[in-house]
Amino acid sequence: MSIIAEIKQKVDIVELVSEYVSLQKAGRTFKGLCPFHTEKHPSFFVFPEQQTWHCFGACSTGGDVFSFIMKKEGLDFGQALQLLARRAGITLATPRSSAGAEDKEKEPLFQINESAAQYYHHLLKTTKVGEVARDYLNKRKVNTETMAEFRLGFSPDAWETIKRYLVSKGYDEKALLQSGLIVEREDKSSYDRFRNKLIFPISNIDGRVIGFGARALDDSLPKYLNSPQTPLFDKSSALYGIDKARAAIREKNLVIVVEGYMDVIAAHKNGCRNVIASMGTSLTEKQVEIIKRLTKNITLALDADTAGQEATLRGREVLYHSLDKKRAEMLPYSNESARSMHKGEEPSPVLAQKVILANTLDAQINVLCLPLGKDPDELINEDLTAWQNLVEQAIPILDFIISNMIAKVDINKARGKSLVVEKLAPVFAEIEDPVQRSHYLTRLARELKLDQADLKAALRRHMSTRRILRPPEPGAEPRLTRQLVSNPIEEYCLALLFRYPELRQLAQQLSPEHFECTENRELFSKWQSCRDVLPPWNELDANLLEQLNYLFDKPIIEQDSSARQRVLNDCILRLQERRSRKLEAGRELVLHATREEEGIDAELAKLEETGIDTSQQLKEIMFKRAKEIK
Ligand SMILES: [Zn+2]
Repeated sequence: MSIIAEIKQKVDIVELVSEYVSLQKAGRTFKGLCPFHTEKHPSFFVFPEQQTWHCFGACSTGGDVFSFIMKKEGLDFGQALQLLARRAGITLATPRSSAGAEDKEKEPLFQINESAAQYYHHLLKTTKVGEVARDYLNKRKVNTETMAEFRLGFSPDAWETIKRYLVSKGYDEKALLQSGLIVEREDKSSYDRFRNKLIFPISNIDGRVIGFGARALDDSLPKYLNSPQTPLFDKSSALYGIDKARAAIREKNLVIVVEGYMDVIAAHKNGCRNVIASMGTSLTEKQVEIIKRLTKNITLALDADTAGQEATLRGREVLYHSLDKKRAEMLPYSNESARSMHKGEEPSPVLAQKVILANTLDAQINVLCLPLGKDPDELINEDLTAWQNLVEQAIPILDFIISNMIAKVDINKARGKSLVVEKLAPVFAEIEDPVQRSHYLTRLARELKLDQADLKAALRRHMSTRRILRPPEPGAEPRLTRQLVSNPIEEYCLALLFRYPELRQLAQQLSPEHFECTENRELFSKWQSCRDVLPPWNELDANLLEQLNYLFDKPIIEQDSSARQRVLNDCILRLQERRSRKLEAGRELVLHATREEEGIDAELAKLEETGIDTSQQLKEIMFKRAKEIK
């Protein structure tokens, strides 16, 4: 038995999860409030017989003890393995690197990025080829001082500028590939990722360069290009300008989040130093976590076009994030941690994480809506006072969502009113604070000219109309056996994907959750997160490496590429089908267990919401498979 299987056998998932979530028995399952999103009614379930967990609410995600502890404590696989092994009383043969060693791995990449930033800046500032970029910046009213402050740079229109420079500084190509600054061709030769681009070094909160953003200086596409995911750069946690804005954010107790690099630069140049940019998308949970260490007041600057179309969705996403972790509480130390403290060992990461969590504040998110067709960049350069007024007039995101929704429909018509109620019902369900809830109910009732009690009833109805109560059919019960044996479909799928990179495209529908075997799941996530470069297989934990070797040794029967594609497609469909079936089965179990209880309206509604999706998904998969078979 592998160490991982042994750990899974010895660590009871109910016991482990109970340390974070107050669980309640419900039939053959346990339920509790999801620790990964904020909710009023439990939609987080633990299945002891399968030794798995699943959130049927906003997260709609699940896994085993490993994925739980990784997600909850923010650990990588190796750290989770260490923690769980200690808990199971198993000694690991190969001690994994601690955080210190991990930093050592990252250090060369920091140095490469630093050298590259310096060189790009030098090319912008002093060379003839850099003139095109200097002209562009002058036009955008960026002076030399600001160029230096933000260390802006230029990458010439050539294939090997940065590569040659960094190799001449003694860095090897493998490290350069890992940094994302160069890209590998099929024939293993490599070239500069950024060519003929204006370069924006992106730093972490301590001011060390973690990656680069780049903007095309001609009409070539893509207009914007970022570093890929690397050990240093993760788009979902990077915030442009955070190092320079840090002090001002604390001082003003407010951060303003814009979309573009140039917006940040214009703001700072004009003395608005508490401005940062998210990396093109809406704020992620990780980004909010970083910001919340500086302030809990976040103002999002949305431009008028996207605000209209996307604000609802974005608003809801952000709302979740802002509410997330609100419930974070100081949990009692586990015996395990207490013991290790006594022995004078390092405090376990669990302890440290809890202290951080306890200190995390819930955030107030406001929205500032820009005038039509204006970027913050233009507005700040043209009319600073107008910008400052907008910042002052920013409104809470909930008000924004409500106004936006109301503005879109004719609320003098009955149909319009019900549409607003329908769309806002899920948003209202997320408002935890009773005072806020009542405030917004009053507001909405007034604007829709509805009686408050009627509105309340309608909101509630919309959360539960899609409810179907159905006990699981006898015999259709899920087979609940622990997954310890090998998993041929998962393995064949991975073997194909890892060995034939051209098949990557086909795996877009797959997520780590399609893999039940912990090793496979982790290998797949690693592979999936490395888009352009090969995953750093050599850094794998020994236990995973063993599985990887096994996958690489697995015989692949299909000789030609179209046969391989067909077989892979079939594997993927089977994995999708299995996951949908399992989700269905889990849901049935959950529904069955909670059916007898009272006052569970909202909870069931939540379950039904996801339930419809899974059975729909399952239908689609079956349809696809039927077509394949023909
Ligand atoms: Zn959840």
